[in-house]
Amino acid sequence: MIVHGLKINRSWFFVFLLTLNPRKGGSKMKKLFSVMVFLVMMFALGIAHAGPISPVSNPTGPFEPPISDSQTGPQCSDPGYDVTQYHMHYDDEEPNPTYKYHVGDDLNGKCGGSTDENYPLRAIADGKVVYLDEVDDDGKGKRVYIRYSFPYAPGPNDVQTFDSAYFHINGVNPSKVWWSGPGTGSTVSKGDTVAYLGGTGGWVPHLHWEAQWDDSIPLSGPESNPYQNPLTITHALKYRAPSLIVDDRRDEITYTAATGGYYTIFTMPGNAPSSTAYMEYSGERKSLKKAITAGWMENYHLAHEKDGLWYYYYDIDNNFFENGHQYAISANVSGAVLHILVPCNAYQDDRARIDMIHAVESDPRFSDIQVKTFGTESPWSLNPAWDIRWMRFKLSDGRTAYVNQVTYRANPLIRNTAYYDPDLGQWTNWQWVDWNQLY
Ligand SMILES: [Zn+2]
Repeated sequence: MIVHGLKINRSWFFVFLLTLNPRKGGSKMKKLFSVMVFLVMMFALGIAHAGPISPVSNPTGPFEPPISDSQTGPQCSDPGYDVTQYHMHYDDEEPNPTYKYHVGDDLNGKCGGSTDENYPLRAIADGKVVYLDEVDDDGKGKRVYIRYSFPYAPGPNDVQTFDSAYFHINGVNPSKVWWSGPGTGSTVSKGDTVAYLGGTGGWVPHLHWEAQWDDSIPLSGPESNPYQNPLTITHALKYRAPSLIVDDRRDEITYTAATGGYYTIFTMPGNAPSSTAYMEYSGERKSLKKAITAGWMENYHLAHEKDGLWYYYYDIDNNFFENGHQYAISANVSGAVLHILVPCNAYQDDRARIDMIHAVESDPRFSDIQVKTFGTESPWSLNPAWDIRWMRFKLSDGRTAYVNQVTYRANPLIRNTAYYDPDLGQWTNWQWVDWNQLY
């Protein structure tokens, strides 16, 4: 097979997007700038840790939920679980205004009440225990934090690391989980039973499950309170929706790369960002870029067919595997496997909320998130090819402004955001949301 050494980038896909929606795509430079401002702010305020969060040594593969889909118990034969409160949900019935915004997901067994007590809670991937509190002396109850790292090209050192918490547990599985101070935690493997669901902290038994994307949050003390009112943009961005993280990384397709100048050709069965794809060789997992650096493959070893010609990507990690299209993979080393994680596209409300926060995070007028105002129209009456979601934000001067997010129904990874500029009295142009941005 001949691979043409032509540079291609996302521009062909932009054309596709603009055909659907006659509005502008995103500005890469602007996004980069806002992230830099955020990081500078973190250090200026002195709330970041002295060093970056230390990743787990070998980044993990696909994830699975903490409760099995087939989980039943002596009091419940209905398998699985429900997510009963979502990340960033607003609890109207919570009497204390400080505790109205929820940061994390609540998981309950299917039969309600205490019937899910002592359900085994699993490690969602290979990870490391970074904090354990077995004293039931506050509302969080007994809890354990596990750190996970996964290959992610735009992340620091080509990985993304986060800490995931299980609150209200009855206890941990001592054969898998131990911790006696920073850096001393056990390592766990995907699927290990790490803890048992409980109601410590004074709750009806459930799993409060959260994901901290930001290591500036101490794991104990008041800052680790998942609830904040008002829910500021800065606080919200420290956390992520754990169910969405798993959902994006649960379905995986794999192809063993041919060698010696041959290519393994495949047709994509779904849409997937390339930033989360990785190569696995000899037990190690690396982003595509790192796999090239390690000599496992060359840049032109990942190719994409279009109109009978094959192209490769100069910027290999910043592209998109598109449903129904043909790709080819080759390698220098025998037995290298390409892994592509295909988002399941559940939890789109969570995705939309995070998109909307990102849409205004660099606009200093926007301060707090009014999660209670979140709404959905599916399909969007003005353009039924899309779903629309909206949410109101409070501005620092007390005014409010709406943000919109639209998702293309045929490929939910294609999304745009816009917001109402209260000073100009008009909506901004639609901004394309980078599908290689994580949630
Ligand atoms: Zn909760």
